Amino acid sequence: MKVAIIGAGVAGLTTAKILQQTGHDITILDRTPDVGGVWSRTRRYPGVTTQSPMRQYSFSDFAASANLPEWPTGEQVQSYLAHYATANDLEHLLHLRTEVTRVHRSESGEWHVDVHDLDRTVEYRIDVAAVVVANGIFSEPNIPEYPGHEVFKAAGGRILAGNQLNDEEQARGKHVVVVGYGKSACDVSVALSRVAETTDIVARQLLWKVPRKIAGVVNFKIPLLTRLGEALFPYHTLHGFERLLNGPGNGLRRSLLNLIGTISIKQYDLETHGLVPRGRMIDIITGAIGLGTEGFFEQVSNGTIKVHRDQIIDRMFEKDSRPMVELRDGTQLKADLVLCATGFRQGTPFLDDAIQTRILDRDGNFLLYRNIRPADVPNLYFNGYNSSFFCPLNAEIAALWIAADLQNALDLPSEDEMRRSAQKQVEFFDTITNGHHSCGGNIIPFSMHNVDDVLQDIGTNISKFARASQWFRPIDPAAYAKLTARVVADLTSRKVAEGRNHSGSS
Ligand SMILES: Cc1cc2nc3c(=O)[nH]c(=O)nc-3n(C[C@H](O)[C@H](O)[C@H](O)COP(=O)(O)OP(=O)(O)OC[C@H]3O[C@@H](n4cnc5c(N)ncnc54)[C@H](O)[C@@H]3O)c2cc1C
Repeated sequence: MKVAIIGAGVAGLTTAKILQQTGHDITILDRTPDVGGVWSRTRRYPGVTTQSPMRQYSFSDFAASANLPEWPTGEQVQSYLAHYATANDLEHLLHLRTEVTRVHRSESGEWHVDVHDLDRTVEYRIDVAAVVVANGIFSEPNIPEYPGHEVFKAAGGRILAGNQLNDEEQARGKHVVVVGYGKSACDVSVALSRVAETTDIVARQLLWKVPRKIAGVVNFKIPLLTRLGEALFPYHTLHGFERLLNGPGNGLRRSLLNLIGTISIKQYDLETHGLVPRGRMIDIITGAIGLGTEGFFEQVSNGTIKVHRDQIIDRMFEKDSRPMVELRDGTQLKADLVLCATGFRQGTPFLDDAIQTRILDRDGNFLLYRNIRPADVPNLYFNGYNSSFFCPLNAEIAALWIAADLQNALDLPSEDEMRRSAQKQVEFFDTITNGHHSCGGNIIPFSMHNVDDVLQDIGTNISKFARASQWFRPIDPAAYAKLTARVVADLTSRKVAEGRNHSGSS
């Protein structure tokens, strides 16, 4: 089948690899000049690193170089993904600097993908049998529109999204105001505070920060990036030990999570800094957990970074021809550069309205069975809409599912059941994250539940023993390498057999 894949990030690349291996004719389209998606040189902000250790942020069959640090920089991750593309012979499938502008389906069921070649400024159309949307849920920044922004800009002020600032020299000698308190906001603040005149953070809500090394000793991956860590949060369907942990063991479960909060307060000296988040760790950790940035609280402590908690920018203005911002409490700050680390927008503007209405609920959430497939739009798939602690692994397993479904090798429920299942999933995440689930695309902290559910449809999994060991050992995607190869081999031989039957009968 001819298949177009929109996006050359983690999800697009692994989908291309698996669909190519299972015999499809692939075109990968991305508007950036390099592969890597959020790690592209056009999106990397100074100080960006992964949150997951590299071992956990890998594909099953493509180990990263042992020379990489445990938390690699954005540049190192992009280089890993570029090597993955080369090693899997994907480069000739790539159409970079190519933006998808419209995707629609003809009555005969063929998909038309309209694209704009950004270098040659020409538009053309690709006709394919199937489309995989892997456009990412964290690549289109969401920048608030502040009152007074025109005056602010006229006075020389700049407003950028975090991922639009690719060089720290842009902040040298400047008064920088960073909006947000997530991982990106803290990472970029540490990097910029080394060159900026002043660095202020405006945080609407403080989040809990988990130290990379809890109490300076235990790597956070040991309690949290295991199946046990995942089971500390109640999923909508509980099995085996999870039932125990979320039933009679509920007190223990809550104490364990709150203990991490207590340690975080001590380790980062949050009381002295006045930066203890409101609410207990257990109540807000789901979907809002962030890894602490190395050096962040040291910079707060020595005054290089100043955090304005529970504040927002009320207005922008100019004073003595200088760009300024005013916070809700009346504080006025000099601000040559306002950097908005204020989250991302999710959407598929290139899909026709008729399709949008079939894949979105009233609140704009994606209704995707297994976070992959709309119930009733044939040959349209999504990958990367299962963003997790182990994105490469979740995307790779989803790619296997897509390959299997393209061959009708999955025993799927009816369209109504698929839609109900997708709705139930969105409702569940709405409740536990208070609506912060990136329109249904963020499944944290239930990464491994997603892997298991998707593999269940394919009718396979790694051994019970291997899964049991993941309860206490951090998830290692390499444990899935043989499974991936086996599913690909099965699908390929199935295809060959079908081909033979076909030619025999004809
Ligand atoms: C700063 C940061 C740190 C992160 N750290 C981690 C981590 O430690 N662990 C983890 O598991 N996850 C992490 N994530 C989540 C991250 O989103 C995923 O790990 C992964 O990179 C997502 O890959 P993707 O392929 O789904 O999307 P993306 O990487 O966003 O790629 C999507 C691509 O689609 C392209 N595209 C979109 N629309 C169009 C169009 N119309 N035409 C052409 N091309 C288009 C974009 O240009 C982009 O290159 C992090 C995210 C960010 C932003």
